Amino acid sequence: MSTSRRKFVKQATLASMAFWSLNYFGNENSEKIIEASMPSNPTFFLPKLPYAYNALEPFIDQMTMEIHHSKHHNAYVTNLNKALSNYKSTFKDIDQLCSQITTKTDAAIRNNAGGHYNHSLFWELMMANMNKDMENAPTGNILSAIERSFGTFEAFKKQFEEVALKRFGSGWAWLYETKEQLKIGSTPNQDNPLMPLSEIKGKPLLALDVWEHAYYLKYQNKRAEYINNWWNLVNWEKVNTLYSLTK
Ligand code: MN
Repeated sequence: MSTSRRKFVKQATLASMAFWSLNYFGNENSEKIIEASMPSNPTFFLPKLPYAYNALEPFIDQMTMEIHHSKHHNAYVTNLNKALSNYKSTFKDIDQLCSQITTKTDAAIRNNAGGHYNHSLFWELMMANMNKDMENAPTGNILSAIERSFGTFEAFKKQFEEVALKRFGSGWAWLYETKEQLKIGSTPNQDNPLMPLSEIKGKPLLALDVWEHAYYLKYQNKRAEYINNWWNLVNWEKVNTLYSLTK
């Protein structure tokens, strides 16, 4: 190779290296590109209750509701936002965040995302009972679906109560929907059926908090009595809406 040819090749190589290094490391726009593709996830807020703290009396007392919502739920929201500062994936809402939770997910995100989702749903699934003399029972599509899956509403209630009572320690009882049918199950701590790590998987339709903080002030160790009274508060219209959304 002639001297001039060698010089040309060397210059061309250097120019090419400079081009690539500019694009990969030196280009001042590259930082902006990386920044723009970083996750921009929502910040979570404590939702307002759809009723007053004393609205669920006498079945759930005012002080339990106030502490449960303004202290317990609030702490899940605060700690979730803190834990998410290091979270690398993107999500659009709390449902989608729950659907990303595996055994590899940081425990602070698992517990607080579950805590926020579960409580937000739990509040919506209750309402003041205006007809204390009448049985609070489902109607419409959800009643038909319950009868298809469990035989009768009474049989469903019995099975749900058993599962809620059997959950050892803290956790939740669920009515949830799978492709085939409605099912009853429970999860420990703040896990829920949206999480891939959960033993039960599906779309939650009804949720019952069986942590002691949900009932201890009024019921102490009598979880069965709390569950029995809670049936008076279930907002079956809301359950029906959640069920119909997937139809
Ligand atoms: Mn709770």
